[in-house]
Amino acid sequence: STIQGGIHREHIAGLREREAAAFRAARPKSEKSFGSGLTGFLGGVPMHWMNDWPTPFPIMAECAKGATITDIDGNVLADFCLGDTGSMFGHSPAPVVAAIRRQSERGLTYMLPTEDAAAVGRLLVETFGLPFWQIATTASDANRFALRVARAVTGRPKILVFNGCYHGAVDETFVRLKSGQPANKAGLAGEFRDLTENTEVVEFNDTPALERALSGGDVACVITEPVLTNSCMVLPEDGFHADLRRVTRAAGTLLLIDETHTISTARGGYTRRHGLEPDIFVLGKPVAGGVPASVWGLSAEVAERYERYLSTKEPGYSGIGTTLSANPLQFAAMRATLEKVMTAENYEHMEGLAVRLQARLLDVIAHHSLPWHVARVGARVEFICAPGPLRNGSEAYAAQAPELEAAIHVALVNRGVLIAPFHNMMLISPATTGGQVDRLVAAFGEVAAELAA
Ligand code: PMP
Repeated sequence: STIQGGIHREHIAGLREREAAAFRAARPKSEKSFGSGLTGFLGGVPMHWMNDWPTPFPIMAECAKGATITDIDGNVLADFCLGDTGSMFGHSPAPVVAAIRRQSERGLTYMLPTEDAAAVGRLLVETFGLPFWQIATTASDANRFALRVARAVTGRPKILVFNGCYHGAVDETFVRLKSGQPANKAGLAGEFRDLTENTEVVEFNDTPALERALSGGDVACVITEPVLTNSCMVLPEDGFHADLRRVTRAAGTLLLIDETHTISTARGGYTRRHGLEPDIFVLGKPVAGGVPASVWGLSAEVAERYERYLSTKEPGYSGIGTTLSANPLQFAAMRATLEKVMTAENYEHMEGLAVRLQARLLDVIAHHSLPWHVARVGARVEFICAPGPLRNGSEAYAAQAPELEAAIHVALVNRGVLIAPFHNMMLISPATTGGQVDRLVAAFGEVAAELAA
């Protein structure tokens, strides 16, 4: 098609070209430093997705503080990407910095609990409501370990995912609906298994399909985000979470809620705000204020079943958890985050600005009669270059406008604003200011005017 997101492709390409040139002109030092890729790294980058940013080359970061990031050419950006939620509470929050500084003199990893660990145990129960927790290092790890427990206690082989989901490096979740049929997600490197053998996939917001998929009694666990955030944002329809809980319970299937992104909702996450009742709860990324850490919690019933299961096994079953997980640095940072950063006051500031951002972006879209919409879950706002709301993963996939989004992304960078790549996420932190929101809205307005012209 010659149109994407309501805009002519030629128009998009023109914007992309102009903005790429402006990006380069403002970053001579970065361009020289990055060269044709960083020597010594596969593909020229230490992480393959650093090459996936739509800028001509990655922004070479100098430092970040609060909601501001500065590159080595001295360009200052209002940061709405915030490390794709790893820094949801701002870069280097003061209480976390103090905790890291203190712990850094006292040993970084020793396979033993600390008094901070004792405090974190209490804080996790109090904040998220589930009674029994384990610590891991990434949300991917936490999901993998938790799914293993779900299989152990149910004795069932399968899991169920919603089409379009993302839960990190959890191989078995990479199943998609392709023309209505389950298939391995396209583009998986090195995957030699047919993942559909042990993973069911249905659309989000489709209770009858969910019921059918669970009716065989062989699904250990449904794993889902409360809101699908990893394609274009899909909100649950009224009653869907109640249906999901009712249907999983009836089928003897556990429910794992992955709050890694939706922790943008409130202290305690979407789960607490909306009274969800997961059997298993997972949170990674910002839980230690940017220090790699994740947590997974179990209901009393699942914990009890797991104890019983373990009592039937040979000792030394192992295989769950990794050496550096639950280290004292993680506990120090997590304690500071849970006690002093993930506060109701901070969330109030975050959500207030997010509501304002959403409303003002909608004004811009309406002003230019663009066929776009804006979705929000708490402090997380996303513009989508298609009409909404989106009901499921297939609609979210169809709503993507990769070239258009890439052009907008670079244009915003050139106007002093960084949003998340790939999914147009704009996250508000406790450090984000009204002035930064105004800057984003003004930049978005300029770009929209140019595209609509
Ligand atoms: N769960 C969700 C919902 C995510 O969005 C992500 C990452 N985007 C993960 C898990 C995995 O997190 P990590 O890459 O830190 O392991």
